[in-house]
Amino acid sequence: MARYTGPVCKLCRREGMKLFLKGSRCITEKCAFERRAYSPGQHGQNMRRKGSEYGLQLREKQKTRRIYGVFEKQFRNYFAKAAQKKGITGENLLQLLECRLDNLVYRLGFAPSRKAARQLVRHNHVLVNGRRVNIPSFEVKAGSVIKIAEKSQNLDIIRESLKEAGKGLEFDWLRLDKVKLEGQLLEIPKRGQIPTLVQEQMIVELYSK
Ligand code: SF4
Repeated sequence: MARYTGPVCKLCRREGMKLFLKGSRCITEKCAFERRAYSPGQHGQNMRRKGSEYGLQLREKQKTRRIYGVFEKQFRNYFAKAAQKKGITGENLLQLLECRLDNLVYRLGFAPSRKAARQLVRHNHVLVNGRRVNIPSFEVKAGSVIKIAEKSQNLDIIRESLKEAGKGLEFDWLRLDKVKLEGQLLEIPKRGQIPTLVQEQMIVELYSK
């Protein structure tokens, strides 16, 4: 599937918040949002942040899509699936996005960003329950074990990413073994356990119009 290949820092500036799309650079002073926390473009500094209700809902949707690196059509499919499930649609939506294989490889700390995680999955470096899976959107079920393939365990990107303090260990719904380079999705996280700063209810309102 095609991917957004343009400048990603622009996306953070457009959304008015750090979306953490560039891995370790995002937590340094080189972060573009730290230096220019206004919208990109000639009139960026004069742009009004407040907008109509529709505009605000649209921004929440775009922000969420960009954080997880999902295109519009796929995002709509996630929403449709979330709406069909029991429970709160907004929470269901975030749970579906969190259970994507590329997101979990990132959350476990095997990659510095979701984009890098997607690349690892695409290039056959990741196993799920002992089987090679190269589909970034693969839905991981509770209890599944995610492991870096034996031949890939010395990849610099993985080792460097795991070195960062706390990487992969900050979620109680995940288990990580840094020696075996293996992790497990212990349970589907509840909304309160998902650190994504979006107002998912606004996305539900947007799609329910
Ligand atoms: Fe966003 Fe990271 Fe770029 Fe900062 S460095 S603007 S957080 S993508």
